[in-house]
Amino acid sequence: MMSIATNLQQVRQRIETAKQQYGRVADTVKLLAVSKQQPAAAIREAYAAGLYAFGENYLQEALLKQKQLQDLALEWHYIGSIQTNKAALLAENFTWVHTLSRLKEAEKLNLKRPVHLPPLNCCIQVNVSYEDSKSGLAPKDVALLAEQIQAYPHLRLRGLMAIPAYTLDFNSQRQQCHALLSLYLELRKTYPELDTLSVGMSNDLEAAIAEGATLVRIGQAIFGSREET
Ligand SMILES: *Cc1c(COP(=O)(O)O)cnc(C)c1O
Repeated sequence: MMSIATNLQQVRQRIETAKQQYGRVADTVKLLAVSKQQPAAAIREAYAAGLYAFGENYLQEALLKQKQLQDLALEWHYIGSIQTNKAALLAENFTWVHTLSRLKEAEKLNLKRPVHLPPLNCCIQVNVSYEDSKSGLAPKDVALLAEQIQAYPHLRLRGLMAIPAYTLDFNSQRQQCHALLSLYLELRKTYPELDTLSVGMSNDLEAAIAEGATLVRIGQAIFGSREET
């Protein structure tokens, strides 16, 4: 078993190499460590190795780990599917939500975001693979939701997010990421303040960086395979 610090070093190297290869050296590509199904101890180890931003998919699991890790200055990102009846817990305990795809979710999160906290950073999740099973908004509907979010003072739209269909084919990975990039560039004509393209996971981070990712969400390449833990 590789240590988290060793894995992290390799992931950072992959990011650097991709940035050089695809002309992105001057850009910041933020690394979000996806810690779902990992114990608090693994997050502690990752923090010691230099990571501070963590992504979680399951609310109850995330809240438990947040409690266990209260002593660390961590930034929590929610990347799971949103249940509107739990919007308060989400709005109270996270800095970012990457998976906004319905007006109702935006409405609830805005309502429940505590006023003493800064606005909740949000990305709209887009379905770029046209698979029925994938969640996210159809590309044609993104502009309308982006406009609607502007009305919510406790939400701050930062950009777009996608989970491309799993494939090891680099061209197919790039195609899906490119669809997201096109949409993002179009949206930025209306909202030039957008700064986040959240795409790229352990198996496709190079394709994502080639297609403009500003934040990659990496789980297994940092923590090891979830099946074995
Ligand atoms: C699990 C997950 C990731 C990380 O995937 P890895 O293959 O472990 O890198 C990224 N984004 C989302 C939304 C996830 O659910």
